[in-house]
Amino acid sequence: MSNLKMGIIFYVFFVILSACGQTKPAKQTKPISNNMENFEQTDSFWKAKLSEEQYYILREKGTERPYTGKLLMNKEKGVYKCAACGNELFTSDMKFDSHCGWPSFDREIAGGKIKTETDFSAGMKRTEIMCAKCGGHLGHIFDDGPTETGQRYCVNSVSLEFLSEDELATETNTGNDTIILGGGCFWCVEAIYQNLEGVISVSSGYAGGSVKNPTYKAVCSGTTGHAEVIEIVFDKAKTSLDEIFKVFFVVHDPTTLNRQGADAGTQYRSTIMYRNENQRTIAKSLIDQLEKEKVYDNPIVTTLEPLSVYYKAEDYHQDYFNNNKSQGYCQMVIQPKIDKFEKIFKDRLKKKN
Ligand SMILES: [Zn+2]
Repeated sequence: MSNLKMGIIFYVFFVILSACGQTKPAKQTKPISNNMENFEQTDSFWKAKLSEEQYYILREKGTERPYTGKLLMNKEKGVYKCAACGNELFTSDMKFDSHCGWPSFDREIAGGKIKTETDFSAGMKRTEIMCAKCGGHLGHIFDDGPTETGQRYCVNSVSLEFLSEDELATETNTGNDTIILGGGCFWCVEAIYQNLEGVISVSSGYAGGSVKNPTYKAVCSGTTGHAEVIEIVFDKAKTSLDEIFKVFFVVHDPTTLNRQGADAGTQYRSTIMYRNENQRTIAKSLIDQLEKEKVYDNPIVTTLEPLSVYYKAEDYHQDYFNNNKSQGYCQMVIQPKIDKFEKIFKDRLKKKN
C-alpha cells in the first residue's frame, strides 16, 4: 500500500473519530430553559399575583357566570395566554361561537400546553382542563364540538389573557428572544451563529426527546429522540428570527432526512423548535417561500416542533470549534461552512476587534 493511500485512510479514520458520532465521556446535563417547566407556586404567591376573581377561578377551580366574560365575544386576531403564567394556549383561529356562555376553542396550540384531569364535582363526570405550566384551572373540554376536531374547550375568560396581533408585534420586536435550531452536528451550527451580528450567546444542547437529562452518549445512540441543537439568544433590534432562519437554510442541508453529510440518525435531523406561535409562523412562511421558489432540488424535510425542554450539553461541547480549531473535523467539516456563511452574510458579521 502506498504511503499516500495509507495517509488518506489514516486521515479519514481520524476525521471519523473526531466527528460527532464518537463516544466521549458522558457527564450529567441539566435543564437550562424549559418552556413547559413546572411553574407550581405557593398559595401566597398566587394570592399576591392574581386578582380575587382570578384566584377564585384559576386556583380554586371556580367558574365565572355564563355570558359575563370579557373575551366571550372577542373576534380580534391574536393569541390567548394563561392569565396566571403567560403560557400560550389558543389562537384566534381556534375560537368559535358555541353559544354556551364561555369562550370556546376547537383546538389548543400544540406542545402539551394543557393538561386534563377527570372531575367529579357538580354531580357529574367531566374532563377538567388546566394550564400544564402553572396548573391553573381553565375550564372543561367536551366531545361535542361542531368542527372537524369534534372538541369544545370551554374556558373561563378570567383564566385567559388576550394579546392582539398588534400587541404581539410590539412585544416581539423589542428586547431579546431565544430560538432552538438543529442543523446536524451542533459544533458546526454553534460556530456559525457566534459570528452573526445581534447574537448575544449560543450554546449547544439537546431537545426534542423523551429522556430527562440526556447525555451525549445517549443522544448519539439515536434512541432518546433528542436532536443535537443550539440555543441562540439574540437582540431583536440587531437581528431577527427571519435572518436567523435564512442563515440556517444556507449553512445546512434541509433536504436530507435525519442526516447532515456523514452524520446520520434522528439526532442530526433538521429542525426548528419553536417556543411560540410567532416563531412557528415565521419559520413556516420562510419554508413555504423556499419551496415555492424551488431553491433546493429536493423537498425541505426540516421539522417544526414545539419546544418542550432544552438541555445544555456537557461543557466540552460548548464553544467547540474555537477550542479545537486544529482538529480534523473542525478543519474539514466546520471551517468550510463558516467560510460559506461569512461570504454570503459578509455585511452581517460581528465586528472583529
Ligand atoms: Zn398557566
